Amino acid sequence: MKLESLISGKWTAGAADGRSLVNPATGETVAHADASGLDLSGAMAFARDKGGAALRTMSFAERGALLKAVADVLTENRAKYEDIARINSGNTKVDASIDIDGGIGTLKYYSRLGKSLGEATTVLEAGQDQLAKEPVFFSRHLWTSRPGVALQINAFNFPSWGMWEKIAAATIAGVPSMAKPATATAWLSHEMMRDVDAANVVPAGVFNLVCGNGEGLLDALGPMDSVAFTGSADTGLTIRSHPVVLRSGARVTIEADSVNATILGPDVAPGDALFDLAVREVGKALSVKAGQLCTNIRRILVPKNHLDAFTEAVVATVSRFPVGDPVDEAVRVGPLVNKRQQQDALDGIARLGREARVLTGGAAPAELDGAGAFVAPTLLACSDPHNAELVHAVEVFGPCATVMPYDGIADAMKIAAMGGGSLAMSLFSNDADARLQTAGTLGPWHGRILMVDEETGRNHTGHSIVMPQCVHGGPGRAGGGEELGGLRGLRLHMQRSAIQGSPSAFAGLAERAAEAAL
Ligand code: NAP
Repeated sequence: MKLESLISGKWTAGAADGRSLVNPATGETVAHADASGLDLSGAMAFARDKGGAALRTMSFAERGALLKAVADVLTENRAKYEDIARINSGNTKVDASIDIDGGIGTLKYYSRLGKSLGEATTVLEAGQDQLAKEPVFFSRHLWTSRPGVALQINAFNFPSWGMWEKIAAATIAGVPSMAKPATATAWLSHEMMRDVDAANVVPAGVFNLVCGNGEGLLDALGPMDSVAFTGSADTGLTIRSHPVVLRSGARVTIEADSVNATILGPDVAPGDALFDLAVREVGKALSVKAGQLCTNIRRILVPKNHLDAFTEAVVATVSRFPVGDPVDEAVRVGPLVNKRQQQDALDGIARLGREARVLTGGAAPAELDGAGAFVAPTLLACSDPHNAELVHAVEVFGPCATVMPYDGIADAMKIAAMGGGSLAMSLFSNDADARLQTAGTLGPWHGRILMVDEETGRNHTGHSIVMPQCVHGGPGRAGGGEELGGLRGLRLHMQRSAIQGSPSAFAGLAERAAEAAL
């Protein structure tokens, strides 16, 4: 099968055979994708002109209804998506659900946000400032849809969620999307977009898809366009420094990798409920999606007196997880997405090995070492995190994390910040002071901070799971980007202008605007 691209209102194949997509459990080729020879500049113009114009005539509520219709199409076809996620991404049912249902759930959430903004097409911020002595001249802030296209480049680990979370916010904001999934797993994005297109629920040009390497998309950017990139820090740098990106003034947001930390609080000891909850969360980090989540726990900070007990509990937990082809439903840890990622992960573990000791895993399980891209759940221990560099810098994009000791909460925070800026961190603690200090001191280093205490118990959404209500992105090496976060996700796609005028000028604007805070 050869994947096509939905551009300029038509499904179009690239000129060459292109790259192979494989089943990572067997190494078998399952599809090809190629975008060479496509008129990508024309495709961007079509999206901008046709799709953008269509969306901007719709109210927020109508755009919300459009997303709901898309979510319904995907829900109807869900069963086959699970198969594709297994065959092309090596997903277990749980892994596939995070990607597929995460995408559908985010569409539904943004659909509701669109409905809440009603029949308006612009957003007026509450409050005004008087700018003259007499009360006849004021300023207010108005958000309007940018007449551009949102170029959305995604990583291989979320072909569904990654695509839909970006499309959802752009659509409500009134901006068409040019989605560019990572080639390795583009089959699922392709199939979903085919179903949505066939259902005829979205005007032409609103959703566009490029399957293949997409060279040339960046060259077509204009001043009203944006690029939302998710992927490795290296590719992020290439995109950020692309001459057209720099020259055009297109907005850019980068969601890159990070070496996220979790902290077992200084007040938590073996036998406590929070101790077990933290072990459980680390177990998930070493199994779910075979550790291929950008928000995954990579560093585990434990009070030094409980280090042995904690590592023993984690090793005992993960050594019970069956690793293998998810065609067997008992499997808990599937393969990485392909042999290249397996090799990258094994190379990364070898690099971490210079500063840390492998406690369990560290290689492909012997019985599976062959055509499949498996890596056993791997826990390393670094005894001197203050004098280490690699454990804070190398993201092994697989089921791998490093445990390290700390001495007091201030020390834990210092070590966590050595990651240089991360997408997510978590703290398992009932200690009010530890929580306050963590939020205040580690806030600038993190896009999201999960605090688990006994009151919350198991009723949390997890260290790695991105909720559409919360901002996603992180400072520093995590790319400095921000997506989602409810209505905040619309900011990338809308322009805020200070409008200066009389009270009657504002009355006219207010009639067509929703009053909200983005
Ligand atoms: P990647 O190699 O950086 O690729 C990401 C995307 O960029 C792919 O669609 C790729 O297309 C495209 N791309 C590559 N070179 C490009 C160029 N010169 N111009 C335009 N697009 C280009 O990352 P990956 O291997 O797919 O994903 C793994 C990484 O993503 C991990 O490091 C992970 O931490 C990170 N990640 C971050 C987040 C987040 O939200 N922060 C989420 C998921 C993953 P092709 O596939 O066609 O080459």
